[in-house]
Amino acid sequence: MTNVESEIAQSLIKSQVLIVDDQAINISLLQKILSNHYQLTTATSGEQALEICKTQSPDLILLDIEMAGINGIETCKRLKSTPETKDIPIIFITSFEQHEDLCWQVGGVDFISKPINQTTVFNRVKVHLTLKLQRDKLLDMVYLDSLTQVYNRRYFDSHLIKTELSAKREGGDYTIILIDIDFFKQFNDIYGHLKGDEALRDVAQAIMHTLLRPSDFVARYGGEEFAVILPFTDLKGGILVAENIRKNISALNISHSYNTSKQLTVSAGIATLRGIIEQENVLKSADEKLYMSKQTGRNKITY
Ligand code: GH3
Ligand code: MG
Ligand code: MG
Ligand code: MG
Repeated sequence: MTNVESEIAQSLIKSQVLIVDDQAINISLLQKILSNHYQLTTATSGEQALEICKTQSPDLILLDIEMAGINGIETCKRLKSTPETKDIPIIFITSFEQHEDLCWQVGGVDFISKPINQTTVFNRVKVHLTLKLQRDKLLDMVYLDSLTQVYNRRYFDSHLIKTELSAKREGGDYTIILIDIDFFKQFNDIYGHLKGDEALRDVAQAIMHTLLRPSDFVARYGGEEFAVILPFTDLKGGILVAENIRKNISALNISHSYNTSKQLTVSAGIATLRGIIEQENVLKSADEKLYMSKQTGRNKITY
């Protein structure tokens, strides 16, 4: 097995399966088949399943079709039309052959017929969970920076486009903060490349922990440069966040003897969609402001 494969095999036991059925006896049977292998949650109605999915993110859902209240097909439709839940694989459990086409139409990945065959249930669940974990892993590899575990440039580029479109569509604003570590070349020269890597990880985490809204995000934009996007945020809000980031990085108290403050510091540039002049772009404007921070003494923010 490759490293990735064994990592996925190990995460199987931790994966979350949500069982949705209105009959206690059906739930017990599925629990009996699966409980030694996965983390199970149960719901006895479609409504309850939707509630659970708002706060937990199951890796797989086993969904009964015939239920009082909203049935399995409707539950699936609602999950598929919500961005946060649309990628959760759903296996239907059905007693009626005529439901089969519907299962596929609404986005199910598979179905199991009642009365269930225990070996089939066990193996279908295993196959679909493995596929789900592989997909998650691939997305991490595509979109996360492996050193700092924050998003990478690729993710930043695609989300910047989405943020800009949505802000323009809704007549709103958004803020970009570009953050660059001061005298990082000298930091590496003085303390070594490994300490440099460690500092990059700490700075990335400090930025991430400063961001409060779920839609805010940070990416590693370049070697020792990070980019933050704050959707629905104006300049006033952006300045506040940038100043907090700068302070929280100083508070890490990483020694940097070359700096006048004797600590590792950052400079930042802030720009907002509303603040730019026609034909300008927000990222370029943030970059120019960052340059001004560097030119005028570092360890500061410019907007
Ligand atoms: P300034 O204050 O003007 O930003 O100066 P600086 O030295 O930070 O900027 P410069 O662009 O001259 O140097 C950036 C340094 O960042 C050089 C490079 O070795 C270091 N760096 C980039 N990526 C990594 C990395 O992944 N790990 C480590 N340890 N260092 C890195
Ligand atoms: Mg039922
Ligand atoms: Mg730098
Ligand atoms: Mg730089």
